[in-house]
Amino acid sequence: MDEKEARKLIVEIGKLMYDKGYVTSSDGNISYRLGENLILATPTQVSKGRMSEEIMALTDLDGNPLNDRRVSSEIQMHLLIYRMRPDVNAVCHAHVPNGTAFAAAGLAIDAPILSEVILTLGCVPLTAYGTPSTPELTDALKPYVEHHNALLMENHGVVAYGKDLWQAFDRLETLEHTAKIAILAKSLGGANDLPQDAIEKLINIREKAGYLTEAARCQACGYLEHADVKCSLDAPPVNNENSNAGKISLTREELIELLAQAANIG
Ligand SMILES: [Zn+2]
Repeated sequence: MDEKEARKLIVEIGKLMYDKGYVTSSDGNISYRLGENLILATPTQVSKGRMSEEIMALTDLDGNPLNDRRVSSEIQMHLLIYRMRPDVNAVCHAHVPNGTAFAAAGLAIDAPILSEVILTLGCVPLTAYGTPSTPELTDALKPYVEHHNALLMENHGVVAYGKDLWQAFDRLETLEHTAKIAILAKSLGGANDLPQDAIEKLINIREKAGYLTEAARCQACGYLEHADVKCSLDAPPVNNENSNAGKISLTREELIELLAQAANIG
């Protein structure tokens, strides 16, 4: 894709992000890798719903400006991903409400509840809080960038990336949709997990179809620990405390009842 097309598409995706409520005010940013050391990115302090093609900033992979537009200070998050993932050419960062609710609650999006999410996105881990625009944030993302395609940033927001701008946006949309369904299912009493053999079948299908590579077997993901598909690479740590896998939550009443039953049995 040439620069003119990329500028046009960033404006279009920015408008979609704003219209869908993924960002408000001047939140969020979008970038595209135009060349080996050339990044096109949304500028600082602008609503993603009201951008025009000529306002985009250009930087190199170290964040040095290459035109007179000032890039967002959050560009370091994007540059880390480009440096670590040669297959990634586009990054979308947003404060999507449902996905960010998971991040604010200290939860990963990693329960095996939707077959298509296992096929196309995989697990979305929770990365530790780091002050936005500082190395604290990029250091927290580092262990997870290689094997995941989207990340939750604790008490901040989410970032999704892919081979082109549409794939990055689609992954952001899938993440937000999954978070919303998980929250709705919880209000109906909780979602049921897919059985282990169904998860393994989906993992085999996604690799054959080329949706995700074998690297995704190494995601920080509670349910992959028990699956019979092995990761042959260095895997990031699974923080089971923040994982939804196998987690049971009880209301106060349910807990009291359970304790009472246990006392009676005893
Ligand atoms: Zn942000």
